[in-house]
Amino acid sequence: MNFCSQCGQNVRFAIPEGDDRPRFLCDDCGTIHYQNPRIVAGTLAISGNKVLLCRRAIAPRKGYWTLPAGFMENAETTVEAAARETREEACADVDIHDLYTMINLPHIDQVFMIFRADLKGSFEAGPESLEVALFDEHEVPWDELAFPTIERTLQHFFLDRENAHYPLHISDITPEDRERYFGSA
Ligand code: ZN
Repeated sequence: MNFCSQCGQNVRFAIPEGDDRPRFLCDDCGTIHYQNPRIVAGTLAISGNKVLLCRRAIAPRKGYWTLPAGFMENAETTVEAAARETREEACADVDIHDLYTMINLPHIDQVFMIFRADLKGSFEAGPESLEVALFDEHEVPWDELAFPTIERTLQHFFLDRENAHYPLHISDITPEDRERYFGSA
């Protein structure tokens, strides 16, 4: 951040009085610009034995496969965000069940939330997808997944499916996890 979004003056990055971490401060109008993690919400949409994946038409990771997911908008719930992203990326309607994975990515200030869902009816590639398809475990393009969060969510799912029990999985992705993933991808 270079300029204050309130008044347009230069901001500086410093610890406000009484705070314990640096923020962007505007000395002109006094605004403290708090920045907080962003939530990425999406679905693990199932049809029969198969999972719905989208091949990304946009950066980052264009050409790689992902679950339909994206940044939450203001004034919507996490479930609404997950359903909207699934509609936008896969032109698909879903019945959303429980939250399934919640993965913290503190090094990039994101929280990733994927809900289990049943796919209803048809699907096709939306503007942000090159193609959309259903995959069973042995069909998943494991070496062409877009992000470690996607790989981890799919690994949980295929393991849990053996017991037909799908508890919530909360975990973190560290910079080391990320480097290992992108280093080998
Ligand atoms: Zn200002």
